[in-house]
Amino acid sequence: MPCSEKRARLLLSRGRAVVHLMAPFTIRLKDRKDGTLQPVHVKIDPGSKQTGLGLVFESRQDLKVLWLAVLHHRSHQISEQLTARRAMRRRRRNQLWHRPARLDNRTRKADWLPPSLQHRVDTTLAWVKKLSKLVPVSDIGLERVKFDMQKMLNGDISGVEYQQGTLFGFEVKEYLLDKHNHTCAYCGGVSGDNRLEVEHVHPRSKGGSNSVKNLVMACRTCNEAKSNILLADWKRMLGRSKLDKARAVGIEKTLKGKWVGLKDAAAVNATRNALLSQILFFAKDEKSVCTGTGAMTKFNRKQQGMPKHHTLDAVCVGEVNHPIVNWQQPVLDIQCTGRGSYQRTRLDKYGFPRGYLMRQKAVYGFQTGDQVKAIVPSGKKQGNYTGRVAVRASGSFNIQTSDGLVQGISHKHCTLIQRGSGYGFNLTTIAIINGGSEKQAA
Ligand SMILES: [Zn+2]
Repeated sequence: MPCSEKRARLLLSRGRAVVHLMAPFTIRLKDRKDGTLQPVHVKIDPGSKQTGLGLVFESRQDLKVLWLAVLHHRSHQISEQLTARRAMRRRRRNQLWHRPARLDNRTRKADWLPPSLQHRVDTTLAWVKKLSKLVPVSDIGLERVKFDMQKMLNGDISGVEYQQGTLFGFEVKEYLLDKHNHTCAYCGGVSGDNRLEVEHVHPRSKGGSNSVKNLVMACRTCNEAKSNILLADWKRMLGRSKLDKARAVGIEKTLKGKWVGLKDAAAVNATRNALLSQILFFAKDEKSVCTGTGAMTKFNRKQQGMPKHHTLDAVCVGEVNHPIVNWQQPVLDIQCTGRGSYQRTRLDKYGFPRGYLMRQKAVYGFQTGDQVKAIVPSGKKQGNYTGRVAVRASGSFNIQTSDGLVQGISHKHCTLIQRGSGYGFNLTTIAIINGGSEKQAA
C-alpha cells in the first residue's frame, strides 16, 4: 500500500523495510505477513503521445491520490524508423539489382494495429501489469471514448438544463462544441458574438425534439434572431447583409445535415478498443474494469477545480463521487526508450553500412539503459551524476542526467542503481497556474 515519504523513510531507517525498486520507488515490508489489503484503483487516460496514469484509494469521504505518472510513448519514433528502414531497403533493392516482385499474398490478422499504435497498447498494458504486481489493485478505470454517442442518440434529454450543471448536459454541450468547431453553426462567427448556446433546429414550441440530432451550437445573436421560426422560413426572411449571407450558408449546411460529428480519428478508437479488450483479458474476474468518456473526465476535473494535466485527467476518469484530495504531488515521468537496436549495423543516409555496433550489449557489467550513480572524485568531470547510462566499448560512458548529458565518465566510478527496463524515469511537478504554491520534486 503506497505510504507517505516520511513513513517510508522511517520504515527504511528502522530496518523494517527494504528497497524493492528504485523507479517507481518501492519498498517491501520485512516484518509483516498477510493482513488485509486496501483496494487501490488504477486509472488511465490514454493519449496519442502521453498516457496519464494514477493510483487512487477511495475511502468513504474522499478519493485519495496515491501516485501520479505520465507515460511518454515513442509512437512517432517508431513510425519514423520504419519509414527510414523501408526507404533504405527499397533503394538498395531497386538500385543494386533487380529482383522480381514476390506474390503479395500476405494477410494481416483481424486485430492488427500499426506498430506505433500497438506500442501504445503494449506499453500501457505493461504498466497496468507492473502496478498490479506492486500494489493491491482491485479496479481499473479507463477513458475509452470522447463522447458516449449511444447514450446521446438514444436518450431523449428532456428536463436537462443545457448548462454545465449536469453531466449529461455537459456532455451534449461538449459534443456540439466539438462538432461545430467552437463557432456558431449559423453565422460561423460573423456576428462576433462568442456566447455559444445549445439551439433547437426545429423549435421546441413547434414540436421539435430534444434529441442530439435536433441540436446545434449557435451564438446568442443568431439564437435570438431565429427565435421560434422554422429554419426554412428563416432562410427566406434573410436580407443581403454580410451577416445574413453567412447565415444562409450555415442554414443550408444545417438543413442538409452536412455537419460531421466526432473528429476523433478512427485510429484513436481502434487503439482504445484494443487496450480495453487487453485490459479486460488481464483483469478477468479478479479485478473490475470501468470505462468513462472524455466529456465525463473534463466535467469531473472542472468540478474538482484541477488544472489540465494528463495525469490529473487520469485521476478524473469514470465516476467520481467524492472530493479528490492529495493530487498536488510529484509526477513520475516515464519515457519509453526501448531496449536498444536489434540492428548491429549503423547506416549512412544512403542506406549503406557506416559502422558496426558491438556484438555484446554489456560493457564492464553495465548496459545501455541502466540507471547508474557515478561519483567522480577528481579531474575535469568531478562531481556526482545519476541517470541513464549509455555504454561504450572503451569503458568511458555517457550519463543522461536530469540536467543534461554528461560524456566520458569512466565505468570505474559507476555504481548500478537499477537495471534498464526499457523506460527512463524523471520526477516532475504539475505546474499550477493561478498562484498556487508549486511543490518541489522529491
Ligand atoms: Zn451566429
